[in-house]
Amino acid sequence: MLAQRTNLFSSSGTAAARAAAKAAADAGMEIIDLTAGEIWTNLAPVIRDGAIEAINKGINRYTETIGTMELREALARKISLDTGQIWKAEEIAVTSGAKQALFNAAMVLLNPGDAVIIPAPYWTTFPAQVLIAGGTPVFVDTGTSGYVPRVVDIKAAVTDRTRAIVINTPNNPTGAVYDVPTLRGIADLAVKRNLWIIFDECYGDFVHGHHTHHPIASIIPGVRSRTLIVNGFSKSLALTGWRIGYLAGPKEVINAVKAFQSHTTSNPNVIAQHAVLAHLQRGDGAYESKLRSQLASARQMGLDVLSSLTRVPVPKAAGGFYFYLNLSRLLQSASGNGGRTTADDIVDSLLSEAGVAAVSGTTFGDPTGLRLSYGIPPERLRIGLSRLVEVLNAWQ
Ligand code: PLP
Repeated sequence: MLAQRTNLFSSSGTAAARAAAKAAADAGMEIIDLTAGEIWTNLAPVIRDGAIEAINKGINRYTETIGTMELREALARKISLDTGQIWKAEEIAVTSGAKQALFNAAMVLLNPGDAVIIPAPYWTTFPAQVLIAGGTPVFVDTGTSGYVPRVVDIKAAVTDRTRAIVINTPNNPTGAVYDVPTLRGIADLAVKRNLWIIFDECYGDFVHGHHTHHPIASIIPGVRSRTLIVNGFSKSLALTGWRIGYLAGPKEVINAVKAFQSHTTSNPNVIAQHAVLAHLQRGDGAYESKLRSQLASARQMGLDVLSSLTRVPVPKAAGGFYFYLNLSRLLQSASGNGGRTTADDIVDSLLSEAGVAAVSGTTFGDPTGLRLSYGIPPERLRIGLSRLVEVLNAWQ
């Protein structure tokens, strides 16, 4: 009845985990939901004012397909600052969230059968979009190298069919932040083998401890013309529902994206565009600093609680706002997992026994992982993680 294409994807696993949490809560259970890919904080005042201003001015028509010139110019200034290079408005497309930026990139770059290298564990949408665009995802496991890919492994995965590499740092779900030698090695490979780098830096504002986020576009000379930067404001401004993201890259790619987007969604929401423009023009950075320090203290508190886990290593959580637990030891211990053999089983048990909702690593191509978001209010986080530790430590 439906197109064959529908066999290539199913509803995102994170959405399914959220739905399971909601169903349990609706059934009367007291649930602490650690599935969300978003931060609980209130709206930034400058965003609210920018949106109200746009409404009061009666700004309600279509804009240019890939965003207003003013917004693209403001983004060009931001990306120039981020990368230390000069970027122009014509190299930027504003999209309905970073998700659309990624989809646009896949649709304008991939021919049928083109391979796209994706380090695993991966954000679940990467392979789904590659498949929808007719490409073939090729996974490179990072589980034995601290969730940062080894350049030799990426090199070994490249064939004549390889068209692109997806790099997501800080990483969802693992929280890994890629170091300079890794980024340099990947950039070098991309230049030598004429590959595209799709560089998703949606969590770039959230790095912890001694870690630093490095934009790949300026990591070695010559890589910028092979790079497509993907970013947005869902995470950095806790603005998931407003749907503003962007894609930055060579003009020819952006022109193709503009044509494609003109037949799909047209411009992103005009009010949200104005709100983000207000932030870029008038934001003083106070909101982002507060957000970062809130997350830093939530992370520290969470790590303190998780340090009591007996059979699960405490995660590094270098970036983003996720704790990614490696459950291998727990799953392998014949007597200690109560018959639970996959991360999915553990997620089900956590929900029913501890009232804690988490996302199984299966969603991210890793049957031994578990993702916990710490973007929720700290008092709830503490209760949720404490219950989780108690249950995981107690299984016989
Ligand atoms: N890229 C990564 C790695 C993400 O985790 C997400 C959202 O969870 C996105 C892109 C999409 O974000 P947006 O809300 O801007 O579409």
